Amino acid sequence: MEKIMLKAGKEKSLRNRHPWIFSGAIQHAPKASGTFEVRDAKNQFLALAYYNPQSSLAGRVVSWKSGKTWDKASLHLRLTSALERRKGLLGPTQTAARIVASEADLLPGLIVDLYGSALVFQILTKGMEDMRSILIELFEEIFAPEILVERSDEAIRKKEGLEERKEVIRGVVPEGGVEIIEHGMKLLVDIWDGHKTGFYLDQRTNRHLVKSYAKGKRVLNCFSYTGGFSLAALMGGATNVVSVDESRPALNIAEENIKRNGLDSNSHTSVQADVFKYLRQLREAGETYDLIIMDPPKFVSDRKHIDRACRGYKDLNLIALQLLSENGILVSFSCSGLLSRELFQKVLFGAGVDAQCEIQVLEHLSQSDDHPVLLTFPESLYLKGFICRKITTL
Ligand code: SAH
Repeated sequence: MEKIMLKAGKEKSLRNRHPWIFSGAIQHAPKASGTFEVRDAKNQFLALAYYNPQSSLAGRVVSWKSGKTWDKASLHLRLTSALERRKGLLGPTQTAARIVASEADLLPGLIVDLYGSALVFQILTKGMEDMRSILIELFEEIFAPEILVERSDEAIRKKEGLEERKEVIRGVVPEGGVEIIEHGMKLLVDIWDGHKTGFYLDQRTNRHLVKSYAKGKRVLNCFSYTGGFSLAALMGGATNVVSVDESRPALNIAEENIKRNGLDSNSHTSVQADVFKYLRQLREAGETYDLIIMDPPKFVSDRKHIDRACRGYKDLNLIALQLLSENGILVSFSCSGLLSRELFQKVLFGAGVDAQCEIQVLEHLSQSDDHPVLLTFPESLYLKGFICRKITTL
């Protein structure tokens, strides 16, 4: 059987169960893609991995045990156990969750999100692409979804030599989106044109948490997307909420979400704008808010750009602090995996110094538990957040 042989000394990360194999670590590998045993320079078994000679991230581990296969049965086991791990969080008041979180569920290159009656999946690697027809059979068998959609329309597939693909495999995607329930809130998800697979499930726990900070507050939700945090704030008793996003379709859904939950549309305003510019306008106009949510998109996908990203985060958070009333709450996130929590905290520290205020950190936030962090795979931790209180008068 053909094998992937590593160069001497290049086995260390695999011994520590990190699932990636870079082409530079490989001494010898088969010419074509496929699933192979990976061995160290002394021919000791390390892992079973799928391999794509076209990618510099050439191999991804699918099993740490020798004698295992990569076939329908092993995919079945992985999918059913990933679902089992999420069963506890699904129920009548919670109908959406990430079922498969790629490497963190030992299914590298695969994302599967459940949105009520719809299942949406994303394939990001050649190794997973090769299993596509088996995966579709398994999705039908295990989940029997009314709607099955593939949203493999991510540019990152190019690195694997793959074209983007977007396809309805079963059912009909409803015009306005599919309805999910998240901690009792009804939310429409545009699984066809929405971002990623349609929704930011990773913020589920944080949205719920925000309810408890919102009572009687005037809220500004920056980078609101379809208004998940806005809805949570209103449910939590906010007096009014402003949602700001550059995407009109996302804001339209936000407005629809407000109506669906029987909330007063007059207490919500949506603003289509660039947040960086809009915050400055608010500052010039002397506006203030009691609770500000700052959930920008990913700013860094390359280490080279970390400094620039920090400047972006600092800019946003500085103005947010300036707009906050005394004892106001800032809920601030970074979803850039390359930016550590420590560095993000330093950015907030710098923003606080420039805004001439104290910042009390009340809570440390991360991604929801259906996006687990694998200790052996630090890349699986990407979302960091802080709930802060601003104090100026002392
Ligand atoms: N908090 C949201 C997710 C935010 S995702 C939730 O809980 O669902 C980031 C959002 O930022 C996207 O909706 C995107 O349209 C928006 N966005 C990106 N850059 C922007 C900019 N410069 N100004 C305004 N919105 C922007």
